[in-house]
This record gives sequence, structure tokens and C-alpha cells, in this order.
Amino acid sequence: MIPFSPPFVDEDVIKEVTDSLNSGWITTGPKVKALEEEVAAYTGVSNALCVNSMTSGLMLMLRWFGVEAGDEVIVPAYTYSATALAVMNIGGTPVMVDIEDDFSISVDKIREAINERTKVIVPVDIAGWPCDYDAINALVRDPEIVSLFSPSNEAQRKLGRIVVISDSAHSIGACYKGKKTGLLTDVTIFSFHAVKNVTTAEGGGICLNLPKPFDNQEVYDFLRVYSLNGQTKDAFTKTKAGGWRYDIIYQGLKINMPDICAAIGLVQLKKYNDDLLKERKRVFEHYNDIFSVYDWAILPPYENEERRSSCHIYPLRIKEITEEQRDEIIDHITEEGVSVNVHFVPMPMLTLFKNEGFDINDYPNTFKQYKGEISLPIYPQLTDREVSIVGDAVIKSYQKVVC
Ligand SMILES: *Cc1c(COP(=O)(O)O)cnc(C)c1O
Repeated sequence: MIPFSPPFVDEDVIKEVTDSLNSGWITTGPKVKALEEEVAAYTGVSNALCVNSMTSGLMLMLRWFGVEAGDEVIVPAYTYSATALAVMNIGGTPVMVDIEDDFSISVDKIREAINERTKVIVPVDIAGWPCDYDAINALVRDPEIVSLFSPSNEAQRKLGRIVVISDSAHSIGACYKGKKTGLLTDVTIFSFHAVKNVTTAEGGGICLNLPKPFDNQEVYDFLRVYSLNGQTKDAFTKTKAGGWRYDIIYQGLKINMPDICAAIGLVQLKKYNDDLLKERKRVFEHYNDIFSVYDWAILPPYENEERRSSCHIYPLRIKEITEEQRDEIIDHITEEGVSVNVHFVPMPMLTLFKNEGFDINDYPNTFKQYKGEISLPIYPQLTDREVSIVGDAVIKSYQKVVC
């Protein structure tokens, strides 16, 4: 069986984790600090904060912006549910909008959805393909849109407009007009979950890129305390001589990342650009070569003059098939010994969101992309031979079901 997305663990990763174990310090400490510095250096932001997941990182940033009951947060209907669950879990209301053919959130649909209650937009870089950030950033600065914004706390007054927090769970290392994710929006949040391009087993990385008059270092200092129960000293600092006394200054969250996890990501990120990401590109291009000769295959967005994917997922789409045919093709591919997936079942098709009143009929392009989508295995360890096996399995399975 060819697995779908095993984590990248080599001797260097094991050595770094062992180093944490042997050091006598396994939770938030020097390795988290080092990973944060590595994330900041890689993306080009001044400050990055690591937490225990992307989901909790999004909750943290929504809290920071003071999102509360009655506030609306615009998200795409086509994403992993965490994007909307984070909003609901802090008491806000997710507003779903449809996507474009390249999986990106539709900027026209965002404009239609904005009203006086809108506080945040969370675009999602599906599969590692960046959204149209120039258009989104221009939209939130459009005087007509700004005039609708009604700030209700200090952070909102200071920004004076809707904040853009990108769900970049898939897109570390992706580029848009020469800039990496991290620098493209006010706030960018990566996921370091086990299946993502860079992993800490579980984890998230928040890149702060807030415009003046915000001081990103000051925001970082606030978030660091807030993410540790609002406690003025973390456990590591308290171990230092005379460091026992602390205070609780906010009703914070407990979402800090342990050093033992940071150790994995630290090694991976150092190897990411010149090694792991290159290998993902190799696999992506190999699939492109295989499928480009078939007119039933829609290749995923990869690169153009403006954007470059981080190749997190290879979302192959098959033209003009039904959802049932897609599922049948997947069954055949699985029988061939290849694990595939679907990214994603649109949120309006899931029970929780249906019960909240969302209806997939309101998101026709989301459904259209979903019904023919099959995500193929893509990771650095996947050999060219394995890629060929996957390709053959997909082609054979398609022909069985459709021809
Ligand atoms: C994985 C993922 C998340 C959640 O990341 P966690 O680190 O597991 O919380 C959010 N959004 C998308 C699009 C994802 O794929």
C-alpha cells in the first residue's frame, strides 16, 4: 500500500527530539523560540509565534481582534472545518462564500457578503495555492467597505478596517508576486499538523505582519502571555533562580507548543526550501506529466507569473463525472494499493453546518470542484516509481468507471 501522507522523520529529526528529551526540558522553551525565529526568517516577518495547532492559533487571533457574539467572519465553503469551527468556538458567526475554479475564495462573493457586522476575512490557500491577495487586501481598504466597518474595541479602532487572517495551513513556502506567505496578509497562520508540509506532530505558526501603528513585537508579547493562560512567566522562565513569582493578567488560552514537538519542525524547516519542498515539486511535476495527456484530467494550479504553489496537496479533478463516479474511482484506486483522499467535503455538506442552516446548493462552484476531486499522495519520500504506480492506478480506475 502506498500511504497518503506519512511524516518526514530522518536521523536529524530523531537527534533533535532526543536532544530535547535529554536536555531535561520538554515543554515550551529554547526549541520553540528557535522554531519561531526560523519561521520568521523563512517567511520574512518580524515576529512569529508558535502554538499547539492552527485551529487554536486562529482562535487566539480572533480573540486578539475582539471577535465576539454577533460578529461575522467570512470563510470559504471549501476548506477543512477548522476554519469555521475556530470562529464558532470563540462565539463568532462564520459566513461561508463560494470559490473560484482554482479553489481560491471568490473575491466578488466576499464583497457581496460584507456588512456592518463583518470583522474578519479568513482566505484559505487550498492545496498550497495562494488566494488573490492583492484583490483581497484592496477590498478591505476600499473606502466603501471601510465605511461599513464599526470598531468596538482598541485593536479594531487601531486597524480601522476588516482584518485579513489567512488560513495558510497548506501554504508555507508558497509565493504570490515574489513574496512568501506570511507577508501577504495582516496575519498568516500555518498548520504544523502531522500531514502538513512542515510538521511538529501538532502545532501552528502565527506570522504577524500588522501595519502601523501596530507594533508587532508588542502584539507578539501579548499573544505569548495570552497563549499560556495569561500568565506573566512561562514555566521555563520560572525555573530560573528567583523566578517563582508570577501573575495572571488575562483570561488566556492554554495553547503553547512543547519543545519536544518544536524539535521536529525545527529540523524540517531548515531542510524545507532546498530539500523537502523541491521533492514535493518533483512529485507534482511528475503527476502533471502523467495526466496532462488525458483530456478528462484537470491539473491543479501549480505556478504562473504571479503565484507558486507549496505543493501540499495534488488535487486532481476529473471532468464531468458525478460524485458517485468519483467515489467509485477512489474505491478502485484503493484496491490497486494506493491511498487517496478528498480535499475537502465542503462544510455545507457536513451535519453540524447543515444543522446551522448552510446549504450546498448556495455554493455551486464549491460542489463542482468537490465532486470530481481526488487528492493523490504527495510527499518528499515518494519515489518516481511510486508516482508512476499511482498514475497507473488512477488511469486504470478512471477507465473502469467511465469508459
Ligand atoms: C489542517 C488544516 C487546518 C487545521 O490545522 P490544525 O493545525 O490541525 O489545527 C486548518 N485549515 C486547513 C485548510 C487545514 O487543512
